[in-house]
Amino acid sequence: MSNHSTRSPTVELDGLGVAQGIAIGPAYVTESGSLDVPSYKIATAAIDDEVERFNACVEKSKTQIAKLAGKTKGLPESAAEELGYLLAAHGQMLEGSRLVRGVENRIREQRVNAESAVSQEVGEIANAFAQMEDSYLAERSKDVRDVGQRLLRNLMESPYRALTDLPNGTVVVADELTPADTALLDPQNVAGFVTAVGGAQDHTGILARSLGMPAVVGTPDLLHHVRTGDMVIVDGRTGRVTINPDDKTLARYKGLRTELGRQARKLEHLRNVPANTRDEVRIGLQANIDLANEVEPALAHGAEGIGLFRTEYLFLNRDDIPTEDEQYVHLRNIVDGMKGRTVTVRTLDVGNDKLPYSLGEHLTVSANPAMGLRAIRLSLKVKELLENQLCAILRAGAHGPVRILLPMISTSSEVRQVRQVLKKMATRLRRRKVKIADPMPPVGAMIEIPGAALSADGLARDCEFFSIGTNDLTMYTLAIDRGDEQVAHLYSPLHPAVLRLIQFTTAAALRARIPVNVCGEMAGDERMTAILLGLGIRDLSMASSAVPRVKQRIRNLDINEATRRAQTIMEQTDAGMVAALLDDFNALA
Ligand code: PEP
Ligand code: MG
Repeated sequence: MSNHSTRSPTVELDGLGVAQGIAIGPAYVTESGSLDVPSYKIATAAIDDEVERFNACVEKSKTQIAKLAGKTKGLPESAAEELGYLLAAHGQMLEGSRLVRGVENRIREQRVNAESAVSQEVGEIANAFAQMEDSYLAERSKDVRDVGQRLLRNLMESPYRALTDLPNGTVVVADELTPADTALLDPQNVAGFVTAVGGAQDHTGILARSLGMPAVVGTPDLLHHVRTGDMVIVDGRTGRVTINPDDKTLARYKGLRTELGRQARKLEHLRNVPANTRDEVRIGLQANIDLANEVEPALAHGAEGIGLFRTEYLFLNRDDIPTEDEQYVHLRNIVDGMKGRTVTVRTLDVGNDKLPYSLGEHLTVSANPAMGLRAIRLSLKVKELLENQLCAILRAGAHGPVRILLPMISTSSEVRQVRQVLKKMATRLRRRKVKIADPMPPVGAMIEIPGAALSADGLARDCEFFSIGTNDLTMYTLAIDRGDEQVAHLYSPLHPAVLRLIQFTTAAALRARIPVNVCGEMAGDERMTAILLGLGIRDLSMASSAVPRVKQRIRNLDINEATRRAQTIMEQTDAGMVAALLDDFNALA
């Protein structure tokens, strides 16, 4: 063994930078097997309860496996067959098998907790398999470990509970973080994160921006190069990840981090300054929030209201569906916190990358989840979901101004159906003498499906406002999955087709005299501000941390000049040319 140096070699990897800023800290790699399994003795009197807890966990695991097996139906035949066998084998391992009996015996005889018993029993069986000569049987040791992991995660209740309790300054490193996992990250102790898969515009990236947490996603080969404890630098602006940096690199990034902090503080004075252009046109700036604790940062950054509250986060990381009362209390806290400023509440937008297991029974298999039974389609199918949400919003509306925003609208009839339910719920609540919003909250549609944008004239008759969701609008217009790092280079809201849809929608809203804003990620990118204002947009909603930067851009901008540049841009046929013309215009500021 060489002992020239104790330092591991420096590795630099490039992914997609999704949230501004630089994080520097020790890595915590969330790979399977990294669960911190608790181990303790239990009292004799507690044995039956512990066995019962284990049995409940076995039942839960069997249900999960059965659900997963159901989902294989949407896969190509060969993959479905292979996965089907695998899941059947996993299911069998939980049917009164040696594994289940062995764990029970350990709990009873050794008086240890269920997690420890599972961990020991799985280790023993998996090792026995691994030593078998027959390669097929030897391979089964992996299946035993997989089932063991599932049991452990269920016993420990939260899939990534370890993420909630990390030492200060940790950089989380994972193959993938779902939006639900990301919602568990606490900016107080997590400095940033890096993942191997994921696109810049999926909800994991959006959450990182909301949390103000530097992050890089879509970093191939990541897990081969980093181990827990390695020093990692995450540059959320450029997408560069440096593992085990040398002293010079470390010092350079520390300097950059300080400088970025200084620049952000410099913009703080803009908090109470109006977002007026040079020629005194007032632009509305609102915040997108996903979690209730984002209200304070929204106000601190000078947001004038909540332009988008994504209610689906209320449904993530839990087993049951939140009740109407629970949703009401949550919404009321947000409305109270915003002190008279309008809160736009979007009804449930689940599906695709946001899949709450609390809705398991309602979310059926879909071959194309981005186009399946999701968002408003699910709310209209499972009426009690919609009814509960609308009641909660109506009640919260008694405490301050609210608006109701409907996701993934494709036709007017969806809006009309919601209005009928809303009317019914208002009557029901009034009859029960419950205080509700008066007048009724405005109802608006997300314009994020190309067909909705192209029929914006008709939709405007049934809507009191529009909110343009450029994240999905870009995805569906260009047929590019916003969460797939392999095609991320093709994802561009500056594609002329997307810009034309924005222009068409804005013009339709202006003709119908209803408010229109943009709430997709494009709204929070100050490089895009000029084109959006040039196309007639006067209201933007974004991650709160972006508000000061966009405000600064607005204050440097002249509406007539932006409109003229937008006209030139709209004559282009190529996204690259559009970007160049926009960069050129931004450089004049
Ligand atoms: C959008 O699609 O642009 C949007 C704002 O909604 P979400 O990102 O939640 O899909
Ligand atoms: Mg959307």
